[in-house]
Amino acid sequence: MDERRSAVFVIGVSLLTLLLVLSTIPMSLIPHNHSYELTGDADYRSVVIFRNDDIEPGHSDELRRSVDQLFIDEEVPVTNAVIPTTDGESIATEESFCRELTAQRRANPGLIEYSLHGYRHEPNADGAPRTNGGNSTVRSEFGGLPAAEQRDRLRNGTRIMADCLETTPRSFVPPYATYDNATVSALAAENFTTVAGGGWFTESYYGRTEPFETDSVVHLPEDQGFVKNWETNAFHEPQTLRNQFEDAYTSGEIYVQGLHYWTFDSDRRFEQLESFIRYVKRHDDVLFLTLEEFGDASRDGRLTEAGNGWSYTPADDQPVYDTN
Ligand SMILES: [Zn+2]
Repeated sequence: MDERRSAVFVIGVSLLTLLLVLSTIPMSLIPHNHSYELTGDADYRSVVIFRNDDIEPGHSDELRRSVDQLFIDEEVPVTNAVIPTTDGESIATEESFCRELTAQRRANPGLIEYSLHGYRHEPNADGAPRTNGGNSTVRSEFGGLPAAEQRDRLRNGTRIMADCLETTPRSFVPPYATYDNATVSALAAENFTTVAGGGWFTESYYGRTEPFETDSVVHLPEDQGFVKNWETNAFHEPQTLRNQFEDAYTSGEIYVQGLHYWTFDSDRRFEQLESFIRYVKRHDDVLFLTLEEFGDASRDGRLTEAGNGWSYTPADDQPVYDTN
């Protein structure tokens, strides 16, 4: 009897110890299988796009390198949105910056892509006011301006990008997340295929939050950025970002994460980015795309909604980054 009682005691203590040890492991580290069965012709459950804004010379260069390296190491594509001027001057004169970014793109085909991020990245006094997006009163740099002026800015920005980065951008990220129909016409006229603004902006201006097309330009609204408060640069809780991705994933939608490399300015904040990327990667059937490839594949019919997910055919010789 005593032996049986002590055996029960030992088992009880062991179970309790196991529970205690388990409770100290963060949920994010426990492998879990999201085995949603894909139906129909779907290849992927969700398509994920990471956009990294505000690339410019002399602005947190080390952080820029660290964030790029993280995406390269994780083999997750990132589209870097580059501001083509600093204090009104072309960045093409910054030779070492241009060389570094050009080499990085060439060394990482399909992983590192450059997008045009405004022209001066300054609010325009004549620009359209924000309709929501927090309590900011910042006006748009493009939206609300005459069409000809918008087109000039796009053309000049494109030329500078080509001089500096030896690539012609075909995606546009408007500063402060806002644009208008004239921006889209100007983009179409300048051979851009994709515009990536704020989800709150497309919702208020177009009544849509999922990707859509107007004037043969693909709109790709952002779902959620890391920064919750631009006054303090405070981040959202990690769980908030995860929930937003989880929502997109379970409903088979596109997920666009907008981030700003210079906000990952402590080990803790950098680790939050790393752990979010790894969290997404632990999900089955996720396809990672750049902005341009999303626009091209949508327009070419290589990316289509299928079953409860997405069907995708890469262009010839194009590397595919996914979790299949
Ligand atoms: Zn910006």
